[in-house]
Amino acid sequence: MQLASRVTSLRFDILTAASLRPSFSFRPYAFGPVANMSTSTSTSTKPSALTFDLKARCSTSKARASILHLPHGPVELPMFMPVATQASLKGLTPEQLEETGCRLCLNNTYHLGLKPGQAVLDAIGGAHKLQGWDYNILTDSGGFQMVSLLKLAKITEEGVRFLSPHDGSPMLLTPEHSMSLQNSIGSDIMMQLDDVIQTTSPDHARMKEAMERSVRWLDRCIAAHKYPERQNLFCIIQGGLDLDLRRQCCEAMVERDTPGIAIGGLSGGEAKSEFCKVVDTCTDLLPEQKPRYVMGIGYPEDIVVAVALGADMFDCVWPTRTARFGNAITSCGVLNLKHSRYAKDFGPVEEDCTCTCCRPKEDGGLGISRAYIYHLAAKETVGAHLLTMHNVHHLLSLMRRARNAILEDRYPEFVRSFFAKYFADKGVPDWAVDALRGVGIEI
Ligand SMILES: [Zn+2]
Repeated sequence: MQLASRVTSLRFDILTAASLRPSFSFRPYAFGPVANMSTSTSTSTKPSALTFDLKARCSTSKARASILHLPHGPVELPMFMPVATQASLKGLTPEQLEETGCRLCLNNTYHLGLKPGQAVLDAIGGAHKLQGWDYNILTDSGGFQMVSLLKLAKITEEGVRFLSPHDGSPMLLTPEHSMSLQNSIGSDIMMQLDDVIQTTSPDHARMKEAMERSVRWLDRCIAAHKYPERQNLFCIIQGGLDLDLRRQCCEAMVERDTPGIAIGGLSGGEAKSEFCKVVDTCTDLLPEQKPRYVMGIGYPEDIVVAVALGADMFDCVWPTRTARFGNAITSCGVLNLKHSRYAKDFGPVEEDCTCTCCRPKEDGGLGISRAYIYHLAAKETVGAHLLTMHNVHHLLSLMRRARNAILEDRYPEFVRSFFAKYFADKGVPDWAVDALRGVGIEI
């Protein structure tokens, strides 16, 4: 009843009319024909296309270091995955992305499904070939983009109904479509279609419904996934900020035995302390021998804390997006290089950074100065490209250092020195102090 009243309160004139017709009358468009809805509740174990090799555990916190062997090569965890929305990391060529050390990047199913579209992806043989990327790709389900980008998206048991951004015609993304598209993309890690709502939503009944529906949709995704032996499907734990719902969801999802597990629905404006409680609660219930991916986080302090709470993988558009606003992520915090104080600063973007942008010419880098970025900012896109290169490299290097610290069992020291430098005189935020104390790290 709650859902019904929620739906009717929104403006879905065209969709409501269309939804009275049988689902096959929806124009196939980029997402292919609407498949019959499966009601499978299979919990059978599917083959996996990865192996997870746990190398070390921090003796104080829940931090772990591992190697994840994927179809396009191994990746070292914990890791940050940059987001290449349109099969391109804005401003970087595949070679430049490779130079940052990235071996797993994200593509958005929604964007690739619209353009170039499934037929082109099938013809070329997937997104690796399309973008000339020989390493791993993770794709989202497409659902989140729809709900966040399209005002008229509406979720029903069948899938996400929305209006084509091209011509306004009604369309539908089901778990089966999402799998079919991700199978055509050929991503090494595919995400299930889930029912995502704002974590801060006060509607508990709707939150519970979204969590339970996400489990049902996972079953449909498992049933529809054509290539489990070469593509890995990850489930997504939902349940908002309600820890009981999260626990129930963990139990149901773990039972489905997917090769990897994501914690979703966070980074939606909730308090950081709430975010930490959810991650901490979930990692306690997840199997040791599977990778754990916390979706949508990219601030260095969030990642360093989430690693201590037992998470392995992270993604976010922030490091690349903020580069386009002239912001450089450094060990001493974020610097806005559009500020006139950098006009005569001839030092590198970050001292001792080994990225192509910062490295001196004599070491094979570009030897770019802060003054040059200041000069280019807001005038030439190359300034944004250079900073993108630096920011992605910075996060990957932060993760490498975190990983080495875990391997050498000195993660608590690493965390303390990270926070001392990153926040310097501003002081470490309370939420981080509390969350870290919860896993035995005193700052
Ligand atoms: Zn750099």
